[in-house]
Amino acid sequence: MFEKILKEKHLKITPQRLAILKEIQKFGHISIDEIYENIKESNPSMSLATIYKNLSSMQEAKIVDEVKFPNHKQRYELTKNPHIHLVCEKCGKIMDMEIDASVENLKAMCAKTSSYDIKEASIAMIGICPQCQAVV
Ligand SMILES: [Zn+2]
Ligand SMILES: [Zn+2]
Repeated sequence: MFEKILKEKHLKITPQRLAILKEIQKFGHISIDEIYENIKESNPSMSLATIYKNLSSMQEAKIVDEVKFPNHKQRYELTKNPHIHLVCEKCGKIMDMEIDASVENLKAMCAKTSSYDIKEASIAMIGICPQCQAVV
């Protein structure tokens, strides 16, 4: 599956890229340090710099998106439809949610009102997930 995506985006298929994409898929939203930690065992030769380099080329090709959260390190996810994030402040779980009012609309609205040249929208709802609420 990832081979096909890389090919479509005219990126070379390398074991490094495939390993990174697999980790991102497994975790949904993952930081570069977590990718490094998880990949290190099976790919001892892969450095943090290599991962970073591969992430930025795949980000440019729109295979991977960088997600920014306030007070958190940025994470990476596979490119999906525009969505907002629900973040649990207890367990740190991050959930994707597509909303009716599209992120693009919000972006356009804010740009119009503020005259900002808005480059990206990153919307996060912070709260407590149902599982954590159940724990007393
Ligand atoms: Zn939670
Ligand atoms: Zn997401």
